[in-house]
Amino acid sequence: MNSSNLINKHLDNTSMSLETTVSFMESVAKDLPGFDESAFHMLTHSEREIIMELPIRLDNGDIRVFSGFRVQHNNARGGPFKGGFRFHPDVNLGEVRGLAILMTWKASLVQIPFGGAKGGVSCNPKELSITELERLTRAYTRQLGDNIGPYTDVPAPDMNTNAQIMSWMFDEYAHNHNNCSLAVVTGKPIEIGGSQGREEATGRGAVLILNYLLQDLKKEIKDQKVIIQGFGNVGSFAANILDKEYGSKIVGISNVEGGLYNADGLNLDEIQDYQKEHGTISGYPKAAWVSNEELLVQDCDILIPAAISSTIHAGNAHDIKATIIVEAANAPVTVEANKILDERKVMIIPGILANPGGVIVSYFEWVQNLQQLYWTREEVLEKLDKTLYKAYRRAYDFSCETGKTLREASLNIAMRDVLKATILRGC
Ligand code: NAD
Repeated sequence: MNSSNLINKHLDNTSMSLETTVSFMESVAKDLPGFDESAFHMLTHSEREIIMELPIRLDNGDIRVFSGFRVQHNNARGGPFKGGFRFHPDVNLGEVRGLAILMTWKASLVQIPFGGAKGGVSCNPKELSITELERLTRAYTRQLGDNIGPYTDVPAPDMNTNAQIMSWMFDEYAHNHNNCSLAVVTGKPIEIGGSQGREEATGRGAVLILNYLLQDLKKEIKDQKVIIQGFGNVGSFAANILDKEYGSKIVGISNVEGGLYNADGLNLDEIQDYQKEHGTISGYPKAAWVSNEELLVQDCDILIPAAISSTIHAGNAHDIKATIIVEAANAPVTVEANKILDERKVMIIPGILANPGGVIVSYFEWVQNLQQLYWTREEVLEKLDKTLYKAYRRAYDFSCETGKTLREASLNIAMRDVLKATILRGC
């Protein structure tokens, strides 16, 4: 690769989630008090962007260099930056920037004292061994140096990262800083300072928000037929909670390879046993095997995209049967699709309202680590419910008062509070 290609690769801004996020921001910004061009510049740019080259020795002795990123968008409201860390081939500066901006709005909307950040390494983790992933995580943490820390920036798991990766990050930080502060990362295992309820928090939060909305719409959650795209951390918890605790009928699920659909309902326990035995859901006999594109347009009441960004686009938005879409993933609906769905009166619970369950319980984990006092799962889930409900009421009531969509109302509140904080601080 020549030097100009390398620079372009690093500074790649062609990210759908960044374009989508900025475009949604543009549409609500004009209504914000105190808004002007420089405010918009500030809100669409990051406070700090870190690009790293990480040389790793592979198990076969070769050396491979990976590109890593951490973007700290805005912490005008105070507190450290906060945001996930992912391993994915699509990670680039633009993508991470877009996701960091979304984190700022999430923390603002649910009123927790964090700024928005995001990080990742561009790689396919399925091609790397567990020891290679550990070396990569440690190299990334070392390179970040003092740019992360309990009061600076606190990473958490995201796509293809988990409690094990967070344990290595914590350990590497502790060695390099001679400081065993557990609050440097969240999403850790319970044995090293993790919080009860963290693993299920994002999926559970998406279900709680859906239930609040259905109650306002005078609909029963147990009567809903649900399709969930993505059966990883977020999607599988959302599916199991809806099925087992709320009695909804899960009619479709998928992973990267494709999906299962059965209009009479799926037996999740059987599918999970099948997955354990075969390493995939493909081939499960009691449902039709469909592509991800086909799954999204099957008959259902609720559609929960819980995989990657931009899966709902202008090409399929007309064919979606669901009347409510819950954005458990970040930026799964493009701007064009959003317009079509609004015209079709499909309600969309935007990601900044539907998926902050994880960052809220991450906040609880951080608080527990700092105060060295731990809560039960019941206490954590009760606090999660209260925090989410408050955010939901702010967004839903504002949407009813103003005739704005839930997306416009949520973004308006989140951006307004960040702008107010900026003006008050005078920075
Ligand atoms: P995960 O890696 O555990 O699961 C991702 C799922 O999506 C897997 O089932 C995978 O097979 C599927 N998938 C991957 N690529 C796909 C594709 N091209 N088409 C269809 N399916 C595909 O990740 P996760 O933690 O469950 O995160 C899912 C989404 O939720 C992401 O957008 C993430 O940013 C967002 N999110 C996660 C959290 C969290 O706490 N984990 C918090 C907020 C938002």
